[in-house]
Amino acid sequence: MKIVDHRLTTEFADNDWVDKSGGKFAPGLPDTVVIHYTGGGSLASALNTFKDPKVSASAHVLVDKDGRLVQLVPFDRIAWHAGISAYLDRNGLNSYSLGIEVVNAGKLEKSGSLYRSWFGRSYPEEEVVRAVHRNEEEPSYWERFTQEQIETVLNLCQALKNRYQICHILGHEEISPGRKIDPGPAFPLDKLRDRLLHDNRKDEQESGGETRISGVVRAQALNVRSGPSVNSPTIVQPLSRNTELQILDEQKGWYQVEVKVRGWVAGKFVEKISSS
Ligand SMILES: [Zn+2]
Repeated sequence: MKIVDHRLTTEFADNDWVDKSGGKFAPGLPDTVVIHYTGGGSLASALNTFKDPKVSASAHVLVDKDGRLVQLVPFDRIAWHAGISAYLDRNGLNSYSLGIEVVNAGKLEKSGSLYRSWFGRSYPEEEVVRAVHRNEEEPSYWERFTQEQIETVLNLCQALKNRYQICHILGHEEISPGRKIDPGPAFPLDKLRDRLLHDNRKDEQESGGETRISGVVRAQALNVRSGPSVNSPTIVQPLSRNTELQILDEQKGWYQVEVKVRGWVAGKFVEKISSS
């Protein structure tokens, strides 16, 4: 995909400019992509919402079921897709991120042999994924994303990464947990990140002659201890969810990690994201 003057060229995307934006990004930004689902049944219904001047919401790009793209806001302008949100030491992710909205109904309720969306449409079993949301404990039902959508989002993120200094690809559910559940477990967000962000880091490390394992904190708050045991004292403030770390050693289910200091965390709360 090609981006010229912060716009996808018409070869790759239609455009339908929406004049709802918070002005230009600060220099060096955006550096983050936030993935959403529209929570609706069609591109047309999402466009209606985003084009409605009474609705304070916009996004950079919409991804239709067939993978077709429609750009609404140029990539050098802030769109209103994240709302109240936080990641690491940042609040209000709109000022840092590009928003990609994928047409998808989201969470479904099972009723008989069918699955129903909040707006009343029924989905057959083959369009449904049963999975546990990263912020929930029990499995639930979700509309399946099409292969075309997943491939388009991957290509789009790659193009954005080539053009901008993208170092984070996040789900709305990760920056507004408790308030938002999109894109949900039917979207292969971790895979997308592994492919676009972590692989590169691995390449850099390999070219430096060093191999490392990285991980991401999957607990709300994770204690860092001086030794591999719950009896070892904590040595820094707990790590927050999604903190990335290097795993240096492993003992009895504990990982020795490097963040700002070296200490030990319970391995079951860390998801390994690459190994070599
Ligand atoms: Zn969202």
